[in-house]
Amino acid sequence: MIAHKFGGSSVANAERIGKVVDILLARAERQVVVVSALQGVTDALIELVKQAANRDQRWRAGLEALHQRHATTATALLGAAAAPLTAWLAEEFRSLHDLLHAQSLVGAVTTDLLDLISGLGEVWSSALVDAAVRNRGAESSRLDARDVLIVDKTELGAIVQWDASQRRLTEHLASQPGRTIVTGFVARTTDGRITTLGRNGSDYSGAIFAALFSAKELHVWSDVDGVLSADPRLVPEAVHIPRLSYSEACELAYFGAKVLHPQTMAPAIERSIPIIARNTFHPEHPGTRIAAERDTSQAVKGVTTFTGLAILSLEGAGMIGVPGSAERVFAALKHARVSVVMISQGSSEHSICCVIRESDAESARLSVLESFHRELASRQITNVTVTRGIAALAVVGDGMAGRPGIASQLFAALARANVNVRLIAQGASERNISVAIDAADARRALRAVHAGFYLSAQTISIGLIGPGHVGAAFFAQVQAARSRLLRDHDLDLRIRAVAGSRRMALTEPQVTDGALPPLDRDADLAAFAAHVQAEHLPHAVIVDCSASDAVADHYDSWLARGIHVITPNKHAGSGPWARYESLRKRRGQFRYEATVGAGLPILTTLRDLLDTGDEVLAVEGILSGTLAYLFHHFDGKRPFSALVRQAMELGYTEPDPRDDLSGRDVARKLVILARENGWRTGLSDVQLESLVPPGLAQVPLPTFLDRLPELDAPMAARLSAAGGKVLRYVARLQSGGKATVGLVGLTHDHALARIRPTDNVVQFTTARYRDNPLVVQGPGAGPEVTAMGVFADLLRVAAKLGARL
Ligand code: ADP
Ligand code: ASP
Ligand code: MG
Repeated sequence: MIAHKFGGSSVANAERIGKVVDILLARAERQVVVVSALQGVTDALIELVKQAANRDQRWRAGLEALHQRHATTATALLGAAAAPLTAWLAEEFRSLHDLLHAQSLVGAVTTDLLDLISGLGEVWSSALVDAAVRNRGAESSRLDARDVLIVDKTELGAIVQWDASQRRLTEHLASQPGRTIVTGFVARTTDGRITTLGRNGSDYSGAIFAALFSAKELHVWSDVDGVLSADPRLVPEAVHIPRLSYSEACELAYFGAKVLHPQTMAPAIERSIPIIARNTFHPEHPGTRIAAERDTSQAVKGVTTFTGLAILSLEGAGMIGVPGSAERVFAALKHARVSVVMISQGSSEHSICCVIRESDAESARLSVLESFHRELASRQITNVTVTRGIAALAVVGDGMAGRPGIASQLFAALARANVNVRLIAQGASERNISVAIDAADARRALRAVHAGFYLSAQTISIGLIGPGHVGAAFFAQVQAARSRLLRDHDLDLRIRAVAGSRRMALTEPQVTDGALPPLDRDADLAAFAAHVQAEHLPHAVIVDCSASDAVADHYDSWLARGIHVITPNKHAGSGPWARYESLRKRRGQFRYEATVGAGLPILTTLRDLLDTGDEVLAVEGILSGTLAYLFHHFDGKRPFSALVRQAMELGYTEPDPRDDLSGRDVARKLVILARENGWRTGLSDVQLESLVPPGLAQVPLPTFLDRLPELDAPMAARLSAAGGKVLRYVARLQSGGKATVGLVGLTHDHALARIRPTDNVVQFTTARYRDNPLVVQGPGAGPEVTAMGVFADLLRVAAKLGARL
C-alpha cells in the first residue's frame, strides 16, 4: 500500500488530472490517493463566503464560474460519460448556493459555514479524479474524509483522534475495497462539526491517511522536482535535494518552503513512513526522499525565507536578573493567542525580542503593554516596540551541527549583500540558523546566502557606462568568458544595463545576444543604478568606462549604497581630495587598476608591496604610450614635429596631441600612484613640465598643428643638452611625496630607456627592492589591454564577494 497526495497544481484542470490518472495506473501497488481542490478553488470559496457575508452580490457570478469550471473539467475528462457527475455537481452547487444565501442573510462570516464551504473543493476534486480513474476501466472508490477523520481543533492545529478515526475507517472500508480516492483538507471534529486542517492542509491529510492505511510510503506530488535548495520562484538557480531527514524537512517547511506543509511530517515520522516529494509533470524524476536517515556530508541543504513578520521588543533595566520576565512576555503572547516564530535575548537581559506574525503585532503589543503596565509606569521597562516589515531567513542542514564556520559564512554572505541582520536565533539542535531581516531585503538575502553556501552561482549584476572602445572591448571579453566562468567557477556575470552619455538600455535578465544592446531610452543614471542594484540579485557593480568627471561624481552615492565601482576613468582617483577620500571609506569596493598602465598590474603590485610591509622609496615610470613612442624615435635625425605627425597618423595620440604633450594625463596617473602610497597628493602638487610651448597652449587645434615645428628647436636643444643620453618623459615620486613629471636624460641601459615604442614601465624602489628595483613593463594603452585591466578588477571584486576563483 502506497499513499499518494496530489496538490492543487496537479489537479488544476482536466489535462492535469489526466496525468494524475496516468501516474496512478502505471503503478502496480495498492493505493490510497489524497487530493487537494483544483488549484485556486479554496481561495475562491473563501472569497465567496466573505462576499456573501458582506452582501456583495458578486458571489452569485463567482459561484457560477466555479460551477462552470468543475462541469467543464468533468466533460473534458469523461465526455459523454460525464452526465451523472455533472448532474451531481449541479446538485452540489445548488446546495452551495443555498448555503451562501443563508450566509448573506446572517451578514457576518460564521465559522461553521466557512469551514464547511471552504472544504468543498476537495469533495468535488476527489469525485473528478475517482470518475476519471473508473472511466479508464480501473477500480476506484471515493472516501470522504469528513466521514472518517476525527480531529480536535486546538491552538496547535488539528489533532487527530487516531483510534476514533481508525475505527470509522475500518467500518467504511469493509464495504469498499480497491483504490481509494480521499478528500484532502477536510475532517470532522469530535463533536461532529465539519472542519478543515488549515490552509495547505492536504499534505497533512496525505500523511494522516498514509498512517491510517499503514502505507509503506507517502508520495507528495506537486509541480516541482521535489524539495529544492530554495524556492525556485525566488532563486531560479535552486538545485534539487535528493535526500532530506525528517528534521531538515520540518525546518525547511516551517520556515516557508511551501512544497511541504510542516504538519505533514508528524504522522509520517511517528511511523517512519518515508515521504517522497515528486513532480506530477515530470514523473520519471526520483524527487526528494524524506526519511529518518541523516546525511551530514553537506552542511547546508537549503535556505528559506518567510515574510509577513514583525519584531516585538521589550527593553528596560528592570528585567536584569529578574527571573520570570521572559515567562511573563510569553504568557502575555499566549493570552493574545500569538504564536512566536523566533526568540532572542541578549545575555545582559536588558531586552527580550521575538519575531511574530505581522498580523498578530498589534494584539501582541497591547497584551504585553497590559501585562507590564506597572513596570512601564515605574520606568523599569522603558519600551515595548513593534517593527513591521520583517522576514525570517533560515539555513537548514543536519550537517551544520558541530561544524564551525557556518554562521560566519551566513553572516559574511549577508554582509556582502548589504543586508542588515536584526535578530539571530540558532536552535540547540544546530540544524537551523535563522535571522530576522527587513522584508525588503529578503529576496536579495536569500539569493546571496544561497550562493554564499555554493548552492548556486554567485550572480553579479553589472552596469556598463561608456560603451566606447574600452567599454565595447570589456563587454566582448565578458561575453566571451561568461560560460567558462559559470561552468568552472560558479560565477554568473550579467551585464544588465549599458549607458552612453545621452541614451541607455536596461535589460532583463541580462544582455544575451553577444552584441551591445541598442540604447533605447534617455540616459538617467539614477534609474540606471536602481536597475543594476536589482532587489533580486545579491551584488551590483557599475563599470565606468567613460572619461567623464560628472560620472565620477556619482561614485560616492553608489558605493554608499553598496554598489561596487570599477573604472579606468582617472577623474576620481586624481580629482578633488575630499571626494577621493570619501570613496575609499564607503562600503562598496572601488577599483581602478586600469587607470595606470591599462592592464599592467601596477596598482596591485604597489598594494602588495605596501600590504606586506614594504616601504616605498621611489616610484619612477613612463606612463604615456604616446610619449614613449615619440622619445623612442627622437634621436635628432628627424625633427620632433615630424614624429608627432607620424604618431598622429598611426592613431597613437589623442585627437588633440596637446592632451598627450601637456603631460596632464601622466600627472593624473602619478597622483593616483601617490595616493595609493598613502600620500595626500593632488594634481597641483605635481611639478609638471609641459612639452607644449606656452604660446601654443590655448590656440585652436588647426593653428597648433600648423605651428607644430615651433617645438623642434627647443626639443633639439634638450637633446643636445642631454649629452649622448636618451630623453624620456618620466613621472617620479620620491619618499616624502615629491612628485615630478617631465623630460630627463637617461643612459641607454637604464630600465626606463630600454623599452619598446608604446610600452609603459614602472620601477618601484623599495626597502626590499632597493639595489635592484622591481619593474613592471608592457603595452600600457589600447582598448583590449585596458578592458582586460577592468575585467581583472571585476574578478577581484567577485572573489571578495565569495566567488571561487
Ligand atoms: P501544490 O499545489 O502541489 O500543493 P504548492 O504550490 O503548495 O503545490 O507547493 C509547490 C510550490 O512550492 C512550488 O511550485 C514552489 O514554487 C514552492 N516552493 C517553495 N519553496 C520550495 C522549495 N524549497 N523547494 C521546492 N518548491 C518550493
Ligand atoms: N485546498 C486547500 C488549500 O488550498 C488545501 C491544500 O491544497 O493543501 O489550502
Ligand atoms: Mg501545497
